[in-house]
Amino acid sequence: MVCEVIKIGRECALMGKKGCSFNGGKCYPIVDRCQGCERVTVFPAGEYCIACPDPAAKWSGRDCNLGTHIVKEKAPEATKSVDPLKASKRKAAGR
Ligand code: SF4
Repeated sequence: MVCEVIKIGRECALMGKKGCSFNGGKCYPIVDRCQGCERVTVFPAGEYCIACPDPAAKWSGRDCNLGTHIVKEKAPEATKSVDPLKASKRKAAGR
């Protein structure tokens, strides 16, 4: 149903005939670590996440898995292993 509490006019699975079924009957505002995320949206009540109702819970203990601004460090690429025997044969053959 369409939210009538915080994210007014937005379709939400938590909204029902009896109102918002989320904890406390409403969504919670973004936290500092959400700054820069594309999912932050301004509503009349303030800035909220369009992907989750409780950003603070998303960030508790780990990085939010839905954040668009989180740059994950790539694991260093494994160096290509060279078989010393084959390399020596290639060198001897002049390749
Ligand atoms: S997706 Fe995560 S980081 Fe982005 S606004 Fe929502 S809770 Fe914050």
